[in-house]
Amino acid sequence: MKIGIYGGTFNPPHLGHLAAARTAVDALGLDRLIIIPAAIPPHKQLPQSTPAPEHRLAMVEKMADALLLPETVKVSSLELDRPGKSYTSDTLEEIRAQHPGAELWLLMGTDMFLTLHRWHEPERILELAGVCAFGRTEQDGEELFAPQREHLRKAYPGAKITTITLPGLVDVSSTRLRELLARGEGGEYLPPSIYGYILRNGLYGTRADLKHLDVPELRACSYSMVMEKRVRHIRGTEEEAVRLARRWGADETHARRAGILHDCTKYRTGAEHIAICQRYGVPLDELERTAPKLLHSKTGACIARHVFGEPDEVYEAIFWHTTAKENMTTLEKILYVADYMEPNRAFDGVERLRQLAYRDLDKALLLGVEITVEEMRQRQLPVHSNTLRAQAWLREHGVTTEG
Ligand code: ATP
Repeated sequence: MKIGIYGGTFNPPHLGHLAAARTAVDALGLDRLIIIPAAIPPHKQLPQSTPAPEHRLAMVEKMADALLLPETVKVSSLELDRPGKSYTSDTLEEIRAQHPGAELWLLMGTDMFLTLHRWHEPERILELAGVCAFGRTEQDGEELFAPQREHLRKAYPGAKITTITLPGLVDVSSTRLRELLARGEGGEYLPPSIYGYILRNGLYGTRADLKHLDVPELRACSYSMVMEKRVRHIRGTEEEAVRLARRWGADETHARRAGILHDCTKYRTGAEHIAICQRYGVPLDELERTAPKLLHSKTGACIARHVFGEPDEVYEAIFWHTTAKENMTTLEKILYVADYMEPNRAFDGVERLRQLAYRDLDKALLLGVEITVEEMRQRQLPVHSNTLRAQAWLREHGVTTEG
């Protein structure tokens, strides 16, 4: 088993770190990559603006999730949990003890590689692991790496050293990024989920007014609340909702913002859903009490309104996007249908839904509702009463799925 170990202060993790991690997994053929945020780095002082360790760990977890390799990429808090300075040699010893037969590779950028001989116990480090170094800027080439490689090989015979080139070099450091963030800039150097996490928690001196975010900031906040694998669907729903709003003369901004936020509480636990409903005074019915996961539409609506300051139209559209109800507004229908048939959805009947959505929105809504009712019946699950009411209301008003 080949294990890569990627340590750093990750204060915050940025696109440069992400590119390095992604390339190293492929270039070294790693079975596992362990990302380890340092508690107290031996070689640099953590600046005053450094967030609490829980925040740094949460951001590194988002970095790992953004790689979309959940079987391979793991995060370890072993340095955060260990008192005192975070010496790499101690960390490697611990990992060696956990994985006795594994081949270990320590990943590092140019700055770290060039000073490796001055680290604490370099001989132990090079005994325990190979070193994989990568450039951070276009200028970091062989002329920089070769002399250090020769030096290390002579000083520590048997040291395994390899260098890789990152195809997508991102010339940024966390230091520079912290300066940019404090000025309200720098989002383009961060994975959106980490940028959103920083904005929502006001880290690094960002003072974003969450109730007046622009579209990229709102997307970042939404993505920071879900797993990366859900982002494609959220993007698809946003785009589909905007297209449908254009087609049916609804407000495109409302459609976009509702699409962006519609699933923002999807990963909350049942207890969290119930707590959010209680806090914002949303009554729960019997079914929702026993299956609180059904509640993500209601809790998502609450967060959209109370955290992000969205207007009633957006609140209502998100509120009804899972169950539907009788007599819906155009925007409510649009979000329900967009969520059902956005381009990443694949199920029997989705093409028919796509055609209907641009021809007759009510027919598409009824078809969506009927597919849900049928699916629940097959899975022997109860159908929400609002869904049945939506179905009955549409039929009473002469809507069919024909044509
Ligand atoms: P700071 O500016 O606070 O010193 P940093 O951006 O160098 O932070 P670290 O957390 O210290 O980030 O870096 C962890 C590891 O990632 C180091 O090995 C570093 O060389 C490497 N690294 C940092 N930035 C990049 C980048 N833009 N491209 C490739 N590797 C990077």
